[in-house]
Amino acid sequence: MRLRDKHGRFITDLRVSITDRCNYKCVYCRTGNEGAQYAELPFADYLRMVRLFVELGIEKVRLTGGEPLLRAGLVDFVRQLAQLRTLDGEALDLAITTNGHLMEDMAEPLKKAGLRRATISMDAVDAEKFARITRVPNGYESVLAGIRAAKRAGLEPVKVNCVLLRGFNEDQIAEFARFSREEGVVVRFIEFMPLEEDRVWSPEVVVTMDEILARLNEFRPVRQLPNAPSETARRYTFDDGKGEIGIIAPVSHPFCGHCSRVRLTSDGKVRTCLFSLLDHDLAGRMHRGASDRELIDYLGSVVGQKEERHHIGEAGFIKPSRSMVHIGG
Ligand code: SAM
Repeated sequence: MRLRDKHGRFITDLRVSITDRCNYKCVYCRTGNEGAQYAELPFADYLRMVRLFVELGIEKVRLTGGEPLLRAGLVDFVRQLAQLRTLDGEALDLAITTNGHLMEDMAEPLKKAGLRRATISMDAVDAEKFARITRVPNGYESVLAGIRAAKRAGLEPVKVNCVLLRGFNEDQIAEFARFSREEGVVVRFIEFMPLEEDRVWSPEVVVTMDEILARLNEFRPVRQLPNAPSETARRYTFDDGKGEIGIIAPVSHPFCGHCSRVRLTSDGKVRTCLFSLLDHDLAGRMHRGASDRELIDYLGSVVGQKEERHHIGEAGFIKPSRSMVHIGG
């Protein structure tokens, strides 16, 4: 059986949060006062749950958090995940999303263990602006070193995620375009979503795709690149083909109709949408002794009920029960 929801979407992409601890306090994500709120499970538990998902057609697994590089034992876990095979007998497409602070020393061991790709979050290419957003002094140099180490290790394509916030970093768009061209990385601008611990989000703070494109075109003319249907980012390059920019626009141009994702939180709950109001306790069932068969049936029914779409910006929008750092972005 392959996971498919009642709207006909095949689910092939699993994000696994392995901790909700984080060493950064990004203004659009955390309050800076609250720490971890949910349990972390032993890696053996995540491994069993991922294996069950893979038996149901998952082909891509992305490790995230919180900050995944904070978890001791990560390299061994990646080595075990790399042994799993998809229903077609292929190795998994294994990736990580990290703030990159600890990546400089970990890129090479992670690559050797079987990690394929890395996405590193960096919200400014200016050390002071970076510190204002992350609320951590002197992080910029570490993250830059982490990005370069990921490239050297071959965790390609290295993607750099930037959440744009009006009043903080919307003046960084052209600088990031330059960064993509000089460093040979894909820069992806993400529209700010209402998933923060604090109450910061308003439509006015969101820097939309149209505005990003206008600013990029002022820097240098852009042209669109082809997309895979389930890809969240619209891809662009410049007139000379140098550099790549992705724009992820869940607020102004939602892509729910092509969503192929499901998430597992650090405490082992399945979330079928970032904006779900409920989560589903897979680990609880597992700890109470459910068999693989029972867990597979459970996953089939839970994923079948995946929400059709999110309702950001609509009257009656209800903020989800967990914020991004506690879901796994
Ligand atoms: N700590 C890792 C990191 O910084 O990439 C992984 C977890 S973080 C929650 C995953 C991604 O979610 C990051 O790229 C971050 O910028 C993004 N993110 C967090 N809160 C967001 C929000 N409210 N809207 C859009 N993206 C957000």
